[in-house]
Amino acid sequence: MFDLSRAFAEEQDQKDTLKNYKNQFYFPQRNGKDAIYFCGNSLGLQARNVQQAVMQELEDWQQCAVEGYWGARNPWLYYQQYCSRPMMEIVGASQEELTVMNTLTVNLHLMMMSFYKPTKERFKILMEAGAFPSDQYAVETQVKLHGLDPATAIIEVAPREGEFLIREEDIFQIIDQESSSLALILLGGINYYTGQLFNMQSITKAAHRAGAVVGFDLAHVVGNVPVKLHDWEVDFAVWCSYKYLNGGPGAVGGAFIHERHARDRNRPRLGGWWGNEETIRFKMEKGFEPKDRAEGWQISTAQVFNMVALKASLELFESAGMAALRDKSIQLTNYLEFLLKHIENIKFEIITPKNCKERGAQLSLLFHDRGKEIQQKMTEAGIIVDWREPGVIRISPAPLYNSYGDVFHFYEIIANIA
Ligand SMILES: *Cc1c(COP(=O)(O)O)cnc(C)c1O
Repeated sequence: MFDLSRAFAEEQDQKDTLKNYKNQFYFPQRNGKDAIYFCGNSLGLQARNVQQAVMQELEDWQQCAVEGYWGARNPWLYYQQYCSRPMMEIVGASQEELTVMNTLTVNLHLMMMSFYKPTKERFKILMEAGAFPSDQYAVETQVKLHGLDPATAIIEVAPREGEFLIREEDIFQIIDQESSSLALILLGGINYYTGQLFNMQSITKAAHRAGAVVGFDLAHVVGNVPVKLHDWEVDFAVWCSYKYLNGGPGAVGGAFIHERHARDRNRPRLGGWWGNEETIRFKMEKGFEPKDRAEGWQISTAQVFNMVALKASLELFESAGMAALRDKSIQLTNYLEFLLKHIENIKFEIITPKNCKERGAQLSLLFHDRGKEIQQKMTEAGIIVDWREPGVIRISPAPLYNSYGDVFHFYEIIANIA
């Protein structure tokens, strides 16, 4: 169904119902032209509607000052809700289960304070070997905070000898084996390095059968693969907003807390006035009364300028629709894979799962040699890809702003390297 001609790419772009979204973004300039940008898994592009949205908040601050909390065109008091509402479709949750606050690793710590409750018998955390370093550091320090030894409290599930991907059967086996000692399972929904997408629904089921809590880091999932956190009964999830969601560098991250926990005001947590019941927040009284929703985990004043670009970008997600984005993404990544399989001049392997249901937009290419050189060639040709030691180039065609023509162009460059 795919072919190797340029005409094929052009025809697909013609037919693409999402093609016009590309015009809604700014691209870095290379050689006097728009770069081809395949790094949406690392930092998403700036949408063209962001500048106006930032200007509006600057004006409202000029005009309203303190009254902006209530009187701005988007009253600042509720800013997180302008982002959590469009997030509902993206992660499959109700608005009461969502909030937008802090950044990813901070939210992971906050969730672990509430959901990692080690006892003498049940104290272990299962995570993936080779998890993103920040997640590893968060888990290691949380374990130490409870006076436990990371060497015994953290179990890592790793790919088998000679393999790159984690077998789900191995996750289930550890859950079974450790069912009396597991307190928490914490996995990246998609592994940042290999691009492997885990079956979060069945892992959650297995975790709950074992009596463990389950949380996911969705940094590489949000805005990439639609999920159903509520229906799957995931306990909590956290993510950042600057990757596929295009929220801008350091944008405010997100958190999901399933309603069965979010409604429980007695769940222990680290509190602050922004998580307090709004009706009594400004009475400045003693006694923390958390909101009976995910917003009850907020601590500080809404970070308006770290949310405004996200709010603007989410408007594009809303109008494109997550299902349509995923459909295009599957096609685009399958096409990229098809082309890469026809490359004979350079040796590499694709370590991302072959099944499109087990991956998102990203393909990870492992080069045993010449990887750096290839990346250099890409850069010279105005194609921005990402390099991870020890030899992986990650390529993520983002359905909002990448085209079949972009993917074809990438293929041409790599196919013509001597
Ligand atoms: C990008 C990423 C992070 C980044 O965390 P911050 O707190 O936003 O700096 C953490 N974990 C994973 C899995 C990531 O992919």
